[in-house]
Amino acid sequence: MRKLIVGNWKMNGSLAMNTELLGGVRSGLSGISCDLAVCVPFPYLAQCQSLLEETAVVLGAQDVSSHAVGAYTGQVSTRMLLDFGCRYAIVGHSERREFCGETDEVVADKVQRALAGGLTPILCVGETLEEKEDGRTQEIVGNQINAVLKVLEDREVSGIVVAYEPIWAIGTGKTPTPEMAEEVHAMIRNLLVSRNAEAGSRVRILYGGSMKPSNAAGFLEMPDIDGGLIGGAALKAQDFLAIAKLASI
Ligand code: PEP
Repeated sequence: MRKLIVGNWKMNGSLAMNTELLGGVRSGLSGISCDLAVCVPFPYLAQCQSLLEETAVVLGAQDVSSHAVGAYTGQVSTRMLLDFGCRYAIVGHSERREFCGETDEVVADKVQRALAGGLTPILCVGETLEEKEDGRTQEIVGNQINAVLKVLEDREVSGIVVAYEPIWAIGTGKTPTPEMAEEVHAMIRNLLVSRNAEAGSRVRILYGGSMKPSNAAGFLEMPDIDGGLIGGAALKAQDFLAIAKLASI
């Protein structure tokens, strides 16, 4: 499966910083043969769309409303994202689950809406440190995946991307070993395939959590790790490109 590397800029960026960062990315794209995307803050979608013109780097957002249109102050719809050329929307990132109270049900509604609206949702799942230490990783991640599978039609399953992001690894510099991550990815693959064998085998399952050039190769060679969701390292063009090169082998 062709690998997918996605940058999650979170609440970082400025007009000047984006110009420099995407200028750097643009100038280093030769030799990269994986799929590449950046998920940028809403206000910069128009700017980044134009900075990425005529490149193969795809634009994405970091969230999307579960509603189609209407009286939802502060929310952003699939149609608005499509207006700016977005193809992806991150859904259910742990920072939104934690700071914005997004439950598994809200996340499932957003995934459904993103698909209905023509976007590819990048569904984030992952356990806390406490849950990991209690040996509950598979249960927690399994529940997060099942909450979404419950609302999807069989044919929709292949339209999602999943990102396994252990919360204790996000922004901390700590990571599971590639083998530990692979165990969770394989469990996610099983759930997807048991729901629909053909569709489930085509879903890309990304690893996220302190992935950087020095550790990416180990993750990317695992059989069920189909790419990465990159936070901190996506803010440096050289690091983002270095990870993309490793995913291109
Ligand atoms: C993320 O927030 O999606 C992420 C993976 O962040 P970092 O790479 O900084 O750990």
